[in-house]
This record gives sequence, C-alpha cells and structure tokens, in this order.
Amino acid sequence: MTGKLQQTDRTTISRHSERASYDRDTAYEILDEGMVAHVGFDVGSGVTVVPMTYARLDDAIVLHGAIASRWLAAFKEGRPVSVCVTLLDGLVLAQSAFSHSMNYRSVVVFGDARLVTDKACKDRAFKAFLDHLVPARWDDSRQPDDKESEATIVLSVPIREASVKVRSGPPQDAAKDQGLGYWTGVIPLELTAGEPIPDPAMKGNLAVPTYALNYKR
Ligand SMILES: Cc1cc2nc3c(=O)[nH]c(=O)nc-3n(C[C@H](O)[C@H](O)[C@H](O)COP(=O)(O)OP(=O)(O)OC[C@H]3O[C@@H](n4cnc5c(N)ncnc54)[C@H](O)[C@@H]3O)c2cc1C
Repeated sequence: MTGKLQQTDRTTISRHSERASYDRDTAYEILDEGMVAHVGFDVGSGVTVVPMTYARLDDAIVLHGAIASRWLAAFKEGRPVSVCVTLLDGLVLAQSAFSHSMNYRSVVVFGDARLVTDKACKDRAFKAFLDHLVPARWDDSRQPDDKESEATIVLSVPIREASVKVRSGPPQDAAKDQGLGYWTGVIPLELTAGEPIPDPAMKGNLAVPTYALNYKR
C-alpha cells in the first residue's frame, strides 16, 4: 500500500504535533526494527495491554498465540485492538527535572484484529514471525507441522488508521532554566546483541551460524 496513514480524531497527536507523522514508510521502518508490540484490547474483563512478538506482513501487523490462550480465543470474530511499537533511542537530561525526556520513535495502530484461517497466509505469517526476529532463521529450523499450526491462532491487523511520533535531539529547557549549571545532554541507547551461547542440549559441535554471530538490529 502506498500513501499516508489515516489521520482520524483518535490518531491526531495533540501534544508536540511537530513530532507527529502519518508517513507510511516511517511507520514501516519503526515496525520492522522493533521486536515487541504492546497490544491493547477489551475482551470483556476491562482494558488489557499485553506485550507480544509480531511481524509486519505487507500492510498488516500479524500477531500469534496459543489457541489455549483465554483472550486470543475471544478474537475468533474479529475485535478492535490498538497496537503500539516503541524504539527507545536515548535519555534526555535537562536542567529542570520537569523537562527530562526520552528520544524515541513510536507507532500506534488502531484496527480490527481478524483471525487468519487460510493455510498459505498462516504459513507466510509463521515465516514472517521468525524472519522478523532473526532473518534467515526460518530456513534454518524445522517448520511448523499441522498440529503446531492448528494449535496456533494468527491475527492480522491492517496498518491503516495509525500515527507515528518521533522525538530526537537535545533537551528543550525553558529559557528561564538555561544556564542553571547542571550537565545536560542525551545518553544514547541502543539494543546490542551479546555473544551467542550454545544450547547445552544441542547435539554435535555445530559452528555458530553467521546470522547469530553477526546479529544486529
Ligand atoms: C518511550 C516513551 C515514553 C513516554 N513517556 C510519557 C510520559 O511519561 N508521559 C506522557 O504524558 N507522555 C509520554 N510519552 C508520550 C505519549 O506517548 C503521548 O505522545 C503523550 O501522552 C501525548 O499524547 P497526545 O496528547 O498528543 O495524544 P493523545 O491525545 O493522548 O493521543 C491521540 C493519538 O495520538 C497518537 N499518539 C499519541 N502518542 C503517540 C506516540 N507516542 N506514538 C504514536 N502515536 C501516538 C495516537 O494515535 C493517539 O490515539 C512517551 C512516549 C514514549 C514513546
């Protein structure tokens, strides 16, 4: 899909509107870099937010979970959700405690989560979940059998009504606070991978695959 994300009343960012964007490519970059989505819904027991892995599949966010999951089962008919993905880029230290902030890139998507039942679509989603986290891993692992596939619910949320918010750069102290004499600036944050740790149960003395050795986000 091309074009802008849908700006509606509920996706209009009111505070710091200069940080708002409805650019689809920017949203996709954030979604493709992120690894955890916070998914909000109400299946009758009050508003709930859960962290989930996800993948972007074309113009949708796909989510999955065990069929035994109490709340996922409630999605059989399709339900409204809100999905948020955030990348934390830095801690912003200002003169005043009040002006401390964070540098970030985030996306909020509203939409109906629909059950994916088509076998080919479900298989594409399974591949996307793994490749999103560790590119190339799908082809280097056993793929789901029918039993595993049937035990898994896959949901798809269209990326249509959505917003992007990005904060970057130094602190923004009020003029009256500038020059108070405290250290101010940004502590950049990034996600880095450590050295891969072989599974003690793994059979054979296998070399660490390059995609694990050189893992980068
Ligand atoms: C890591 C992080 C920490 C934050 N900490 C705080 C905090 O402690 N207190 C606080 O008030 N705010 C915090 N924010 C900002 C917060 O996400 C909202 O942007 C803020 O509350 C003001 O929203 P608003 O009044 O403009 O929008 P609202 O009127 O609250 O929301 C309207 C719409 O704007 C869009 N929107 C709002 N925020 C975002 C976003 N971050 N990304 C994408 N779309 C968005 C959504 O579509 C939402 O439905 C934080 C953001 C991030 C990413």
